[in-house]
Amino acid sequence: MSALLFRSTNGQSPAVNLRAALLAGQAPDRGLYLPEKFPRLTPDEIAAFAGLPYHEIARQVLAKYTDGIIPDDVLATMCREAYNFSIPLETIHDRVSLMRLDQGPTASFKDFAAQMMARMFGRFLREDGAQLTILTATSGDTGAAVAHAFHNIPGVRVIVLFPLDEISLSQRKLMTTLRDNVRTVAIDGKFDDCQAMVKRAFADPALAHIALSSANSINIGRLLPQSVYYFYAASRLAQPGEPIVFSVPSGNFGDMMGAVVAREMGLPVKKIIAPVNDNDSFPRFLATGVYEKIAPSRNSVSNAMNVGHPSNLARLVAVYGGQMDETGKIHKQPDLAALRREVFSSSISDERTRTSLRDFWNKYQILLEPHGVVAWQGFLDWLAVEPLGTAPAVIVETANPAKFPEEVEKVVGWPPDVPPAMTAAIQLPEDFDRMDADYATFRAYLIEKHARA
Ligand SMILES: *Cc1c(COP(=O)(O)O)cnc(C)c1O
Repeated sequence: MSALLFRSTNGQSPAVNLRAALLAGQAPDRGLYLPEKFPRLTPDEIAAFAGLPYHEIARQVLAKYTDGIIPDDVLATMCREAYNFSIPLETIHDRVSLMRLDQGPTASFKDFAAQMMARMFGRFLREDGAQLTILTATSGDTGAAVAHAFHNIPGVRVIVLFPLDEISLSQRKLMTTLRDNVRTVAIDGKFDDCQAMVKRAFADPALAHIALSSANSINIGRLLPQSVYYFYAASRLAQPGEPIVFSVPSGNFGDMMGAVVAREMGLPVKKIIAPVNDNDSFPRFLATGVYEKIAPSRNSVSNAMNVGHPSNLARLVAVYGGQMDETGKIHKQPDLAALRREVFSSSISDERTRTSLRDFWNKYQILLEPHGVVAWQGFLDWLAVEPLGTAPAVIVETANPAKFPEEVEKVVGWPPDVPPAMTAAIQLPEDFDRMDADYATFRAYLIEKHARA
């Protein structure tokens, strides 16, 4: 049996299997890995998900990619251990529901991918007897999810860079209280500085002796687990074969690509709504066919979506038959008519985000946070141009309101409940390094840490 292969969106690197794609992160030609051909689930297999728990749906979906690489019983254990928290589906009205992806160890949807990726990395490195350093820059949620997931995984060291003044105390404490194989570095600078330092490290010949990998959303290991919750939601909310609508608040477009992957694997989907904040390069592209990235990215209340050039657009364009390189240059236009038929996007300003958060609370007495409410408002924007009919719809809430206490308190008048995982972290002592946004200092730091390992 031959394993499924992944090719680069830039088309200049050899196709590789899941293990190689995962460990590499980015393809050598700087493209992103996508399956050569999406594996399919049959309508009967998808219909049977209705009676299965989340971790079992995850096993059946992911087995299509890990076949020949991870034994089925090992994959089953990984899924059971990774997905041991709840995924609430709440009715908003009629057949419109909210899916909360905020019950994992760091209270954002990033846990779904990080937890599975860490287990796969850990297994591959054990098989190879290899050591790896995961470098990641974070504006908050990714760093916490990755640090938690890889904490105490043998063979892995994690170094997380974060902008000292741009993240909240609770976001910070979810990373800085872990210790052991996790080092956090506060950079006196912006998120863009952190990301630039990490990118330079990957390309630096002076660091070639250190095996570096990334856990950000360019990694295919992030994308595949993010397809599972769309199957799960449909299994609970749609009849067999009935198309469903998803609204996914989008920054780097990894989460919405999970819905695209689910659809390509056979899930009936009526529309994927991918609303953004003021970083509106995608809705502009959808409207005009001209892509212009936004640099520098614009700040907004939904800060985890402050992305001026979403890296996963290269994958979305590829699924629709086009080619976009890592700089955002389009070498071949995708099928725009098909893209517009299947995907909708709009830009939600901070003002609309805040108003909508309040309106939603007043109308439904359900608490959202600034990212989830972008999904809700994007859904309303779509309803203004296309009928929902009787189809089921899912609004994806990507973080816990407790991660954004100030915004939430302004609306409802009291601070949101803090989930237990966050309460525990807030009480532990912090330990992190501090550094100027200076690449030479960072390089010396990496070399020193590596030598001491
Ligand atoms: C990362 C993140 C997003 C954006 O997800 P993408 O996959 O980058 O589009 C949305 N909401 C929250 C809370 C996030 O942490």
